[in-house]
Amino acid sequence: MSDYLMQTYGRQPLAFTHGQGVWLYDGDGGKYLDALAGVAVNGLGHAHPRLARALCEQAGRLIHTSNIYRIPEQELLAERLCTLSGLSRAFFCNSGAEANEAAIKIARLHGHNRGVENPAIVVMEKSFHGRTMATLSATGNRKVQAGFEPLVTGFVRVPFGDAEAVEMLAGHHKNIVAVLVEPYQGEGGVQIPEAGYLAELRRVCDAQGWLLMLDEVQTGIGRTGAWFAFQHAGILPDVMTLAKGLGSGVPIGACLARGVAAETLTPGKHGSTFGGGPLACVAALTTLAVMEDDGLLANAAELGAFIRQDLSERLAGLEGVKDIRGQGLMVGIELDRPCAELVSRALAEKLLINVTADNVVRLLPPLVMGREEASLLTERLAGLIRAFLG
Ligand SMILES: *Cc1c(COP(=O)(O)O)cnc(C)c1O
Repeated sequence: MSDYLMQTYGRQPLAFTHGQGVWLYDGDGGKYLDALAGVAVNGLGHAHPRLARALCEQAGRLIHTSNIYRIPEQELLAERLCTLSGLSRAFFCNSGAEANEAAIKIARLHGHNRGVENPAIVVMEKSFHGRTMATLSATGNRKVQAGFEPLVTGFVRVPFGDAEAVEMLAGHHKNIVAVLVEPYQGEGGVQIPEAGYLAELRRVCDAQGWLLMLDEVQTGIGRTGAWFAFQHAGILPDVMTLAKGLGSGVPIGACLARGVAAETLTPGKHGSTFGGGPLACVAALTTLAVMEDDGLLANAAELGAFIRQDLSERLAGLEGVKDIRGQGLMVGIELDRPCAELVSRALAEKLLINVTADNVVRLLPPLVMGREEASLLTERLAGLIRAFLG
């Protein structure tokens, strides 16, 4: 491990030289099945030829100008994302945390515009929104916050999946202006709320005049089998944030909004040097085009259902398996004990997975994965879990 890097990550002791589709190669003859996709980033898998070509062509034309000028690729991407989502305006940045910062600033400014002096945002237990000061303060995980106090104030926390708890706040807090929530929690352990949760939150927000802000940084861009997870719930948020899968590995984040939330930020109120540059926007436009042309939403839905079903059969009767859940290609296998060790055990068998919330194996495979590769994944993983549970 390098002595020249800050020790921010507990890294696995290997590096990859190249990739192809759902496969990563270590240059030493090792070929790994990627069921993590750079944590829900590489939806198109690795070295997708259409993406590589589009990026090369754009890099040969223009990489960066500035938001001082019009950026046609950014305008095209904004229109495309608005058409797909039903929202009306986009702001572009470079990461999920930054996208959520934009959402938080919109909520606060909207509150001040309405005469609310200390606007507050409702956030959830076990949530994850990023590592900047405001987003780690919004995050519902003490490990993310510890040592970084004083935290940013203005967040009110309730349990995830409990719309009634949100509604109850209305009587006590006159300064609430928005609710920020992940449709399905990712880092929190692939938590899927009861059907109707988002619709209930929508109803409460409408009744109270609060903005419903969805963090779709992990769930967005086809991951769950729809362009955006809120589309499974038949509602429309006021604000939505995106990042991970949007640029297929080229850094880009977006904050989309509609209605009054889309008109809140005015010149001078927010900005980004790199945000929405030509190269990143071409990466995102190409990602969306490939997803549409190659039917990757349907693939994510079908393959996710297959993986959950197949794992259920292969792990049937194992007491240590508490739950197998997910939506599309966001899959969680909850065990009855901490299982971080499974990551290195899987690595030894050339399989890339993740463990989150201590005891949940998380799968976030590339959306281009095929049925045969998925069978290989479930077979290898089921063997590993069986051996681990002894
Ligand atoms: C990963 C993630 C973030 C943070 O994104 P970064 O690009 O790492 O800043 C925020 N929200 C959710 C739901 C995430 O999964």
